[in-house]
Amino acid sequence: MPHIHKVALVTGGTGGIGTAICQHLYVQGITVAAAYYGGGKHEKAQTWKAKQSELGYEFTTVYADVKDDQSCNSMVSDVLKKHGKIDILVNNAGITQDAQLKNMSTEQWLTVLRTNLDSVFNVTRAVINDMVQRNYGRIINISSINAQKGQFGQVNYSAAKAGIHGFTMALAQEVARKGITVNTISPGYIATDMVMAIPEEIREKIIAQIPVGRLGKPEEIARMVTYLAASESGFITGANFALNGGQHMH
Ligand code: NDP
Repeated sequence: MPHIHKVALVTGGTGGIGTAICQHLYVQGITVAAAYYGGGKHEKAQTWKAKQSELGYEFTTVYADVKDDQSCNSMVSDVLKKHGKIDILVNNAGITQDAQLKNMSTEQWLTVLRTNLDSVFNVTRAVINDMVQRNYGRIINISSINAQKGQFGQVNYSAAKAGIHGFTMALAQEVARKGITVNTISPGYIATDMVMAIPEEIREKIIAQIPVGRLGKPEEIARMVTYLAASESGFITGANFALNGGQHMH
């Protein structure tokens, strides 16, 4: 089979896990557009891009607020203009705003639902017609262990992340005959800035609950993304992959 050059769009592409995903896809010879937000500021993404270039990775960066459907439509048009198509979409952008339900504001609820779940709808809807027309696509949604087991202080995050897999399973059925696969990855605790910012004492307690005895690495999530993104992975769809060091088995 002739090698067909692929294009990927990765939301949250400049973040901890996102950077590893972009790098791993790039190494496969895939053109990668890394989407960033930065609260509407562009400097951090430019610095990230320059640093990646020094390391030998050349990425396109594209801006979007994934909460906003118009912003996602413009981002996708941008990528299509620059690269002609999108074969692989990784919905990886996400945030936490933790509080117990009794103290959670409507704003904390809505911001996390919009950033973590509406985002998947906004970006995927913007991309899907191009994939359907070309009869090919790989969509990978990044959920969380806390969608599967729940987490104290995270009704917003757990609900949004659990919603992602419902989206995955429904869309997988809609587009299965169009050569498009849709899958979820549910990472456990990964050693990104987000997790390393947790006080060491609490982090040690978390690690004690992980049978493999350590945090995961962003690269370990990226390897799974690359596997699912391959054209050879066409029989895997609607699945949810738990990458959590054995912390939650079901
Ligand atoms: P980071 O905080 O490093 O990355 C999150 C990314 O989301 C950032 O690149 C950020 O972009 C982007 N983002 C946030 N808000 C928006 C927005 N409104 N519009 C567009 N992009 C936005 O975290 P991680 O790399 O750790 O997390 C990546 C994903 O993995 C998340 O979905 C997270 O929930 C999930 N996850 C992480 C785990 C972990 O242990 N780290 C465990 C389980 C799941 P920018 O910085 O440009 O604003």
